[in-house]
Amino acid sequence: MSAPFSLPPLPYADNALDPLISANTIGFHYGKHHKAYLDNLNKLVEGKDLAQMSLEEVIRASVGKPDMTGVFNNAAQVWNHTFYWNSLKPGGGGKPGGTLGAMIDASFGDYDTFRKEFANAAMTQFGSGWAWLVKDGDKLAVTKTGNAELPMTQGKKALLTIDVWEHAYYLDYQNLRLKYVETLIDRLMNWDFAEKNLAS
Ligand code: MN
Repeated sequence: MSAPFSLPPLPYADNALDPLISANTIGFHYGKHHKAYLDNLNKLVEGKDLAQMSLEEVIRASVGKPDMTGVFNNAAQVWNHTFYWNSLKPGGGGKPGGTLGAMIDASFGDYDTFRKEFANAAMTQFGSGWAWLVKDGDKLAVTKTGNAELPMTQGKKALLTIDVWEHAYYLDYQNLRLKYVETLIDRLMNWDFAEKNLAS
């Protein structure tokens, strides 16, 4: 029997974000960390009803259940990492145009304020976790989550994310989380992906 969940291919070559995110980092982050969450999840759901569910259904079925912490953590981390790879693209970043640009102005005042708040969320997530741009009601908002937590279980729609676990940046930026975060916001954010999420 084949494993119920599989690792989606990266949306670009492993050196496509180099030198901002090196192929070495992607080799460990995608090839080892992301894959380990996937392998753990497949082991945990083997032979259970969970193996018949979609990844999102597994996340929703396991969140907040003390006896399913391992399932939730691994399923959410599989989802978060796939979302993260898609949140980045070569030549991305900066102020988006169109609907998103207008919504950023309406929600944050202007792009520079959004940029500051997004970076601040990433910097003030103590320890491991994620910073997110989300749609919350009619507005955009910036939020952060610890460990594997994610917006979908808080009634918010994720548009973009930044992984602030140390494994995401330590090889390229050592302890300089701010430099990593600002590089992603200014040069790698995939606004096309955010637009697609907004419309979905
Ligand atoms: Mn990660």
